[in-house]
Amino acid sequence: MKIFKFGGASVKDAESVKNLTQVLSHYENQDLVIVVSAMGKTTNALEKLVRCYKDDPENCSLLIDEIKEYHLNIIESLFTDKTHSIYNQVEILFSQLRILTQGKMEGNYNQIYDHIVSFGELVSTRIISSFLNENGYENSWLDARRLIRTDQNFRFARVNWDFTKRLVHESVQSGRCYVTQGFIGSDDDLNPTTLGREGSDYSASVLAFVLDAEEVIIWKDVPGVLNGDPKVFEETKLLNKISYKEAIELAYYGASVIHPKTIQPLQQKNIPLKVKSFMNPELKGTGICEGETLSPYLPCFILKKDQILVTLATRDLSFVVEDHLSQIYRVFHHFGARVNLSQNTAVSSSFCLNNDPVTTPSLLEELSKHFTLSYNDGVSLYTVRHYDDEAKTRVQKTGDVLLEQISRNTYQVVTV
Ligand code: ASP
Ligand code: MG
Repeated sequence: MKIFKFGGASVKDAESVKNLTQVLSHYENQDLVIVVSAMGKTTNALEKLVRCYKDDPENCSLLIDEIKEYHLNIIESLFTDKTHSIYNQVEILFSQLRILTQGKMEGNYNQIYDHIVSFGELVSTRIISSFLNENGYENSWLDARRLIRTDQNFRFARVNWDFTKRLVHESVQSGRCYVTQGFIGSDDDLNPTTLGREGSDYSASVLAFVLDAEEVIIWKDVPGVLNGDPKVFEETKLLNKISYKEAIELAYYGASVIHPKTIQPLQQKNIPLKVKSFMNPELKGTGICEGETLSPYLPCFILKKDQILVTLATRDLSFVVEDHLSQIYRVFHHFGARVNLSQNTAVSSSFCLNNDPVTTPSLLEELSKHFTLSYNDGVSLYTVRHYDDEAKTRVQKTGDVLLEQISRNTYQVVTV
C-alpha cells in the first residue's frame, strides 16, 4: 500500500484535478490511499466563514455562495454531464453548511471551527473521487471522520492511535484504491476535529503508520525539497535525500515543505517519504529515509518572518537564574508563544518569538511586571543548517544583525 497526498495547490482548479490522472498513470494497479486537502485556498475562506458566523451571522450565506461558486466552476469543467451525481453531492454538502450556520452550533469556538472548516476536505474529496472514477481510476471515497479518531482538543486534535488503527483496518482492504480527506478526523462522539493547519501531510503519515505502508508520496508544486524556499532565496537546489532526523530539524526551524509532525510516525516504522512534483511525476524528487544526513550536502536556508526579539533584564541586576527562566517560560506557555531562539547574559535573556498580533501585547505586559523589558518587532530570523562562511555572509547581509547564535550544525541570526 502506498499513501499519496495532494495539497490544496495541486487541486486548485479543473486543470490541476485533471493532472491527477497524469500522476496516477504512473501507478496503475497499485494499492493506493489518496489523501486530499481542500481545494486551493478553501480552508482560508472557511476560516473567514467561522469568524463571520461569530461576528456577523447574516453574512454567512454570501460567503458560502462564493465558496460554492468556486467549486461549481471546477465541477462544470470536469463533468459535462449535468445529471452526474456529483452535482447533487456537492449541493447537499453546501446545504448542510448553510443550515449549520443558520442555527446555533454546538460547542466552543474551536469546535465550531472544526465543524465548518472540515467541509473543505469533504467537498474536494467528493469531487476528486468522482472524477477519478469517471476517468478509469476506480476508487472508493472514505470518510476520514470515521477513520482518524482523536481527542477533543479541537483545532489541534491528537490522534488516538489504537482506535484509529482499528477503524482504518476495518475500512481499508488491499488490492483497492481509496480517496480520503487530509486534516480532519473526529472525536468519540463523531464531532469533526482537525489536526492543525496544513495537517494533511500528517494525516497521510498517520494512515501510513497504521497500515504499515510501503511509502508516502507528497505531491507538490516544487520538484522536491530544496535547500531553501525558492520564493525567498535565490539559486536554490534540490536535495535528493534527507535523513528523517535532518527533516525533523529542518521542519522545526521552519522549513515549510513538510508539516513538522509528519516525519516521526514514518521514522518509527522506517517508511520512506518522497516529495515529488505533480507536474513532473517521472522525476525522482526528494527521498526522506534513514541514512545520510543530506545529499547533496548543502547549506539549508530557512526564514521565519514576523518575529519579535524580546530582551528581559532583572531589575536589581541579579543574575538570571533558573527561577527567572522558569517564570518566563511559564508566561510564554500561558500565552502559547513559541520561542525560536534564546540567549542569556549574566543579567538578561533574549528571546526571538513569533509575533502574534493578538497575544504578544498581553504577553509583553505580563513580563514587564517582573522584568525590565525591551524589544524589536518586525525582525526576521534566518537559520542556516550546515552553514559555511559564504552561507553565513549571505544571511547576515539581509539587514542589521541584532543577535547571532552558532552551534556545530546550525547558524541563526536575527536581523532587522
Ligand atoms: N486544508 C488544510 C489547510 O489548508 C489542511 C492542508 O492543506 O494540509 O490547512
Ligand atoms: Mg490546504
